[in-house]
Amino acid sequence: MNLRWMRAPGIFKIFFRNFIWRYNTGAKKVYLTFDDGPIPESTLWTLDMLKEKEVKATFFCVGENVYKHPELFQKILDNGHAVGNHTYNHLKGWSVDTSKYIENVIMANDLIKSNLFRPPYGQIKSAQAKHLLSEYKLVMWDVLSGDYRKDISPEKCYQDVLKSVRPGSIILFHNHAKSEENMRFAVPRLIDELKLQGYEFDICH
Ligand SMILES: [Zn+2]
Repeated sequence: MNLRWMRAPGIFKIFFRNFIWRYNTGAKKVYLTFDDGPIPESTLWTLDMLKEKEVKATFFCVGENVYKHPELFQKILDNGHAVGNHTYNHLKGWSVDTSKYIENVIMANDLIKSNLFRPPYGQIKSAQAKHLLSEYKLVMWDVLSGDYRKDISPEKCYQDVLKSVRPGSIILFHNHAKSEENMRFAVPRLIDELKLQGYEFDICH
């Protein structure tokens, strides 16, 4: 991935100006986010690692995974992390009509109960967004890790994220099998390095 694409392109930020791409408060904070869980192996590992590092993060959960693994979802909450809604079936907004999309989000929120929402694949129609913005904060990202990419090494995944982080960055990693190797390598190193640089870690809000 070319580095200039590591950050979401400016034109989308203008178009989706009501979305949260970054917490630009001047504070030296970053916001780790993990999408697509909870799934047993990946999420348990993530929770243990975050506990050891004493860092809080935000998990954008897929409703059907919460349904399958309620104890994991509860563990995320018990460990003091934030949770957000990522639809029930990980829907692609551009290919689904608005009423079906909203229904799916509501179904997920019966389990997740959060006012934070992140559209899977970053895909959402303006009608869908307009509808959701009355109830949810739409949290996007400032740094996409590319942890799911097979064409980048774990080391490159780590280095690319590190180069792109700035104060207020919302950083996107995943909790799914495809991302496992890069995510497990990059996140603990990133936390250690950013702490050395004086960053604090906060949850999305
Ligand atoms: Zn996703």
